[in-house]
Amino acid sequence: MHILIVEDERAIAENLYDFLEARGHRCDFAVSLADARRLLEQGGFNALILDRTLPDGDGLMLAQSLRATGKLLPILMLTARDTLDDKLAGFSAGVDDYLVKPFALKEVEARLTALVRRASQHNEGSAPRCGNLTYDQAEKSLRLDGRQLHLPPKALNLAALLLAAPGRVFSRRELETAIWGEEQETGDNLRNLLYTLRKSLGSDASVEIATMHGLGVKLVER
Ligand code: CA
Repeated sequence: MHILIVEDERAIAENLYDFLEARGHRCDFAVSLADARRLLEQGGFNALILDRTLPDGDGLMLAQSLRATGKLLPILMLTARDTLDDKLAGFSAGVDDYLVKPFALKEVEARLTALVRRASQHNEGSAPRCGNLTYDQAEKSLRLDGRQLHLPPKALNLAALLLAAPGRVFSRRELETAIWGEEQETGDNLRNLLYTLRKSLGSDASVEIATMHGLGVKLVER
């Protein structure tokens, strides 16, 4: 999952970041509402962890503005308050779930996973896509022009990662960590996986994996 952590308390943000990255997720973090809005414009996130008390306002304002513009991004609210009114305010602002500080990191991950799974079941019509390439999360099937591409699991993971944010440059390290859980000693494994995926897409597909020298790769429409 690609997760945006919006939290101004450095220790909490770092704990979340370290734990979730170690579990193979990709995280970005924002220390203010303005920072979060800027990152959200870039897109590609699967879930949002949202603190309420931020230097430039209440986190619920961000939840409200996302929902007002039709964004369905799952939101897990972190709150220091544990009153019924706070929870109700969160739900009415469009928050999907909440955790009261202090919380267990494992619970954060479990709740995020549940929210993202639920959201993907609700959005069957909007499966990740680039050109005529689509990935169905529930079936774990990759299709090009409607035809299923049969690939080994890691190549499918790679395709799903790239499809989560078409046009975004993924560094090699980022892909390795997401696929193998750690950076690989040589680039061979990732190179082989990219070769397998490119070969299966073929040279005249509507999408291609472009290499950005020194930066990484990205999925683009041709
Ligand atoms: Ca705070």
